[in-house]
Amino acid sequence: MKVLFAASEFSPLAKVGGLADVVGSLPLTLKKLGVDVRVVLPKYEVIDEKKYNLKLVQEGIEVKIGKIKEKINLFETEIGQEKLKVYLVENQKYLSQDGIYFERTAFCGSFAEIQRFLFFSSAVLFLFSNFPWQPQIIHLHDWHTAFVPVLSKIYFPKIKTKFLYTIHNLANQGRCNAKEILGFFGLKGDEVPSLKERQGEDLNLMQQGILNVDFLTTVSPTYAEEILFKSYFSRGLKKSLVYRRKDLKGILNGLDTEVFNPATDPCLYLNYSFKNPELKKENKIYLEKKLGLNVSEEAPLFGLISRLTFQKGVELVAKGFPKIQDFDFRAVFLGSGGPRYEKALSDLSEKFKGKIATKIGFDPKLAQEIYAGADFFLVPSKFEPCGLTQMIALRYGAIPIVRKVGGLSDTVKNIKIKKQFLGLISKLEGNGFVFREYETEKFAKVLKKAISFYQNKKLMSKLQKKVMREDYSWEKSAREYLRLYEKL
Ligand code: ADP
Repeated sequence: MKVLFAASEFSPLAKVGGLADVVGSLPLTLKKLGVDVRVVLPKYEVIDEKKYNLKLVQEGIEVKIGKIKEKINLFETEIGQEKLKVYLVENQKYLSQDGIYFERTAFCGSFAEIQRFLFFSSAVLFLFSNFPWQPQIIHLHDWHTAFVPVLSKIYFPKIKTKFLYTIHNLANQGRCNAKEILGFFGLKGDEVPSLKERQGEDLNLMQQGILNVDFLTTVSPTYAEEILFKSYFSRGLKKSLVYRRKDLKGILNGLDTEVFNPATDPCLYLNYSFKNPELKKENKIYLEKKLGLNVSEEAPLFGLISRLTFQKGVELVAKGFPKIQDFDFRAVFLGSGGPRYEKALSDLSEKFKGKIATKIGFDPKLAQEIYAGADFFLVPSKFEPCGLTQMIALRYGAIPIVRKVGGLSDTVKNIKIKKQFLGLISKLEGNGFVFREYETEKFAKVLKKAISFYQNKKLMSKLQKKVMREDYSWEKSAREYLRLYEKL
């Protein structure tokens, strides 16, 4: 079975969010299951060529699709013990200048960005339709590569490759004026039937992917239901999704449990595991000192690591924390994105100096230190297709506080304490704190509940040990993907 992943992100070479984690880890597990899987991504300027040992394998390949005529260079490298082969496409005009995305939120915001990924999609198809290694399936991810099956129908009608498309986030669709997209290739509107499906004057790349691929997945079972049945989640694409509902499946994302492992994580001040979660305390003190907080073992430490966009519930954090200001707690927020969200979190740390610290930016080392130091981890999203941060937090013994939505709902269950044996033993069920309504009061209430739970040291330690042993690996979900590949 030969499968090619085509995506805009790949951890550790090019990461902005969870997409990179998924594209960087699912193939490793698939390889262990015997799939010959490889990955292709753009060779962005920010990728460290030396660190990742990129080798130039072919120079000056001319990509010809429609009116595009543009040269690319092909690089490759191998990642990890599994020796996962990764191809990188270099092209100065479209792919290899500047960062990964042009917007800080990672949401598509300009035609330059659309062009970047239309060109990348063209290059992938052109390259792999005539390559010594022939993928039977191309596994596409998000809007960036969603146009590949459309291009395949127009320009390579004879190739037998099947296309699987994974939607990681329906809120980021890649749309712009249809004339501009058609003009990029020199296409006429009537050349592909699905191009008739538009949103006003706009052509929506994600919608084109949904309509043209052989099979669709999204990243959690609950999100798959939400996007089919609730317009808020389908963000204008409900009709297209319902049309493909027989070919849509929600498969929960997993983690690379070797990378996200507190026992071996090289970023941590002190490694620990479920056998000695008390060492988390040392990581907490280290983190609080590092960020200039008033160090306290008695106060619980809340952590948040997020792209700062309307999706992630930043308003709840900004308004909720002042409501618990009389309680003893510490909080650390790390993120970057929309300026008003960055400001809202920075204002909090200004106002509550010593109690709240905010770091604006993308900082993978600090992120790991926060997972390790935090007692509780916040994911109060408006919508969340899967969410990886709550799973990473669980693995590091930071108890998640999440809104009941999407993948958060599939991975975090409310804590219940059941008394047994005449009340002598308390049995713990669940692994976190869950709230439903997107309301400041509800969020503040759950924060207070967590602070109160934290006071019971014995229960807190028991809960940490329990959640750190839960299984968030790819094992089960990778087998589901394998079954889909076989079906295709
Ligand atoms: P999304 O893909 O919507 O951004 P996920 O929860 O799926 O959210 O994944 C986010 C990933 O990105 C996690 O690995 C998280 O640790 C990482 N991350 C997010 N923001 C930052 C940041 N500012 N610095 C470092 N890592 C970050």
